Amino acid sequence: MIAIFLGPPGSGKGTQAAMLAERYDLLHFDMGRVLREEIASGSELGIEIRKFTDTGALVPISIIRVIVEKTLRSQENNQVVLDGFPRSDEQADLLDDVLRETNKKLDGAFYFNLDDSVIIERLVNRRFCPVCKTVYNLVTAPPKFEGICDKEGAVLATRPDDNASVIMKRLSVYRMETEPILTRYRSADLLSEIDASLDIQVIKTHLESLLRLK
Ligand code: AMP
Repeated sequence: MIAIFLGPPGSGKGTQAAMLAERYDLLHFDMGRVLREEIASGSELGIEIRKFTDTGALVPISIIRVIVEKTLRSQENNQVVLDGFPRSDEQADLLDDVLRETNKKLDGAFYFNLDDSVIIERLVNRRFCPVCKTVYNLVTAPPKFEGICDKEGAVLATRPDDNASVIMKRLSVYRMETEPILTRYRSADLLSEIDASLDIQVIKTHLESLLRLK
């Protein structure tokens, strides 16, 4: 099963992908996280990547190709949720190539639809654990003790790109570059729409039935 989770930043696609991956032993391929790990490694590539992630722009396709070659293409797991990839028409072409060359097929694309006002509210309240990467929301999914990860006891952090001006840029990049690829998957009859404003557990159950996970 290969599924794409598509949607604006803050629409909860990463949270759902992480929950399903843990429950059903799927691979959660989170492109944003892979890029952040490359930055954290201090590599030349990471230094280059950071110039784009800091401003909310898409990392160029030449770099995305390198990342896909290093990670996704060699993936043995046949149960994959793609989160944050593809994000443009040329990335969707790249995915098509990788799937064809590895004899895999796309089972579905899931579009997490959410209003901009809710997105902004969610992103400014988002925190994460720097150790285990669990994501919290100060309003909708707060940790048990303020500012502390439930699992690791570590002090929670804010992503550098979760600030108002970068959020606006990420949203406009999403509308310009990513939203148009919905048409591609809709025309191929592969697109399902998810109301991302619903409760986390309701969305999870809906996805489980759409993905026929048991
Ligand atoms: P995310 O964690 O999905 O919110 O992504 C954080 C940032 O990583 C984005 O604002 C982009 O700068 C970069 N990024 C993530 N996924 C991609 C992608 N598929 N193509 C290009 N840039 C990406």
